Amino acid sequence: MPAHFDMIIRGGTCVLPWGEIAADVGVRHGRIAAIGPASDSTAPSIVSAVGLHVLPGLIDPHVHLRDPGNAAIETIPTGTKAAVLGGLVAVFDMPNTTPAIIDQASLATKQAYAEQIAWCDMGLYVGATKTNIAELASLETQRGVCAIKVFAGSSTSSMMVEDDANLERVMRAGRRRIAYHSEDEYRLQARKTLFKSGDPYASHAAWRDVECAFLGTRRLMALARETSRLAHILHVSTAEELEYLKDFRDIATCEMLVNHLTQWAPDVYDSLKGFGVMNPPIRDKRHHDAAWAAIADGTVDCIGSDHAPHLKADKEKPWPDCPAGLTGVQTLVPVMLDHVNAGRLSLSRMVDLMCAGPARVYNVLGKGRLAAGYDADFTLVDMKAKRTITNDWIVSPCGWTPFHGKDVAGWPMATIIRGQVVMQDDEVLGTPSGRLVNFA
Ligand SMILES: [Zn+2]
Repeated sequence: MPAHFDMIIRGGTCVLPWGEIAADVGVRHGRIAAIGPASDSTAPSIVSAVGLHVLPGLIDPHVHLRDPGNAAIETIPTGTKAAVLGGLVAVFDMPNTTPAIIDQASLATKQAYAEQIAWCDMGLYVGATKTNIAELASLETQRGVCAIKVFAGSSTSSMMVEDDANLERVMRAGRRRIAYHSEDEYRLQARKTLFKSGDPYASHAAWRDVECAFLGTRRLMALARETSRLAHILHVSTAEELEYLKDFRDIATCEMLVNHLTQWAPDVYDSLKGFGVMNPPIRDKRHHDAAWAAIADGTVDCIGSDHAPHLKADKEKPWPDCPAGLTGVQTLVPVMLDHVNAGRLSLSRMVDLMCAGPARVYNVLGKGRLAAGYDADFTLVDMKAKRTITNDWIVSPCGWTPFHGKDVAGWPMATIIRGQVVMQDDEVLGTPSGRLVNFA
């Protein structure tokens, strides 16, 4: 007897956890109901995936959507629209907004707001401060919370927890994996005096040197080991940390940013000036090569964009007055697909990094895998499509990308979230219906 579904994705190549197969996918009630249903199955909605790869919905676990904050830079509606145009089904949003997400009231406001106006699903980070440590155990279990975020260095708000005593107190509060920005704040401040306004943009990587990041990670790993608290080191940027973290795989996971896999110093500062300035900095070729080695050997768990938009006028300021942070949520998937086409990683490793990886690190429930019963989240990609990334494609209000002018091979053709087509052929469809992601 032919089965009936709400949607059938027909004729694609599915990237399953156990390999690629040519198969249709049947969707019912927003979930994957069948992989390889009978060919005479019916559904009111048929999505053709002929010539396309059907990936589990790709996730960006590291964005700053600046909401609440400055709508001229980014908002949740614009940032999540950028996400679905870029082939993402979910983003995990950082707490350093204005005001910051650091207590029950600010979190409750954001939870309600996100589910009214987000185009994709969202996870929410809650920031640790020196004064909210007693509340963290409760905050980390709230609906939609992916993790507590600790800025152990390099924060502009009250959200800095830079000293060992307070870091240990944070680690002893609660039990879920904690996400860290790891740069040693004391060394950053001490080295700041070595530079002056108007120095070359490449000074950014000299100021925030390898030891700033490596020292930060050594300190965090010592405390994590002592407290047995699981850690996730965001945006690892040095060969030294990647080697070091191999001895902490029982308690630590790590993230790599697409920028550190795509650009290197000094070229990035020569060509992009302030539009190449981010934290931790883009470093020289030795670290770029180590980053790819760590993708190949499995050291890296997830890939993120660290989408952190700023006004164009601010990025044009001389160093170090130009704020650190780059747009990236819309370009993450195209740039990664281009790396796949260039042979730098396999499509299945990309899916591991952008689906299974975030699911494992943050304990996501029901996403990150093409399997029966999981959310019907899909990113349909055309590995043969050739495009050029340009600023006018970017829907973030700030309107620029560090990848302007980059030719890429591979493009997201459709984004499907819980059985709803929200993007097809570069058009956003329907109305915002994003939900908070469920975490264990
Ligand atoms: Zn960030």
